Amino acid sequence: MFVRLHFGVVQTQRPSWTTMEYTQIGGTRVSRIGLGTWAIGGFEWGAVQERESIDTCRAIFEHGINCIDTAFIYGDGHAERVVGKAMAEHGRREDFYIATKGGLLRHKGNVVTDGRPASIQQEIEDSLRRLQVEYIDLYQLHWPDPQTLIAQTANAMREAFESGKVRALGVSNCSAQQMEEFRAVAPLHANQPPINLFERAAEQTTVPYCRQHGIAVLAWSALCRSLLTGKIQPNQSFPQNDIRSADPKFQPPRLAQYVAAVEALDQYAKEHYGKRVLHLALRWLLDQPGVSVALWGAKRPEQLATVAEIFGWKLTADDRKAIDQIVQEKIKDPVGPEYLRPGLRERAAV
Ligand code: NAP
Repeated sequence: MFVRLHFGVVQTQRPSWTTMEYTQIGGTRVSRIGLGTWAIGGFEWGAVQERESIDTCRAIFEHGINCIDTAFIYGDGHAERVVGKAMAEHGRREDFYIATKGGLLRHKGNVVTDGRPASIQQEIEDSLRRLQVEYIDLYQLHWPDPQTLIAQTANAMREAFESGKVRALGVSNCSAQQMEEFRAVAPLHANQPPINLFERAAEQTTVPYCRQHGIAVLAWSALCRSLLTGKIQPNQSFPQNDIRSADPKFQPPRLAQYVAAVEALDQYAKEHYGKRVLHLALRWLLDQPGVSVALWGAKRPEQLATVAEIFGWKLTADDRKAIDQIVQEKIKDPVGPEYLRPGLRERAAV
């Protein structure tokens, strides 16, 4: 589209999505921002409206996003059904890059791992049905199952890959050793660890392995479960049906340390780039060596409104040092996302 400016100058006016960056996963073009649908599942982030959730999944194209990350466990199939409805309304399945996950089930209200081959095979069939598709772009093992050899799980996933039901394979929350075991029996295209400005363990553990072996990295909780949006108050509390009520980062007195860090980062973003902490956090993540995609959990279309603010600029080495210093100075009592680790299934019960 061309716009005629004063002085007769003609300039190309680009819609915001032209600024999106893309990567490749298993030979397919994928946006470096992916919509995360945990909240859309409706179980752990308070109530959501289905219409709004579908609209959010369809709003991605306004921002150049084609990637949606979902999972059975996000609302026990609800998030996948919502994504399926969004794709059906949109009409062109091939416009979407759908990453879903299996290997976590709910038993007596608790999330437990199940990587047994028969369970994974059934889960893939169920995901295809809920998503209303003939293939899944990326199928990921959500969490390693300590009660099943990872090679057995990988074998079931390889069969789905070879049959064409799944076009690429991934793992999540796996160690380098577990990825090595997976790769002994199946191709591995992607890994999904937690990485954000406040949760950086994967930088030292699994990301180097992924870089060495050409495995894409999809970083989960890019906004540290909303902390890095800048909207959380030091004394904020959350209802019981909101995962943040159980997140140790969101409990006083520790929450005040995180909020102080967010305020200082926001100030830095404003002073140096005219941006806000949300943009700084996502730019930081996308500039991390080895990170392919940042997963951004949005519940409503307007939460994605400022995607374009993340692109067209880079942090310098000095910025990165200053950011590290702010985080170290403000957060004296850091804690990771380990509280999210699922339980074991009772051997006889599931
Ligand atoms: P996140 O992206 O770090 O934060 C999501 C929350 O941030 C939203 O629910 C919303 O909170 C808030 N938010 C988002 N955009 C906003 C905006 N523009 N303005 C104000 N608030 C905004 O959280 P996440 O859902 O934990 O992580 C993202 C995705 O990573 C998930 O959806 C999922 O796909 C993936 N994930 C994977 C794993 C795994 O084990 N593989 C684990 C966790 C997450 P409100 O609810 O307050 O509106």
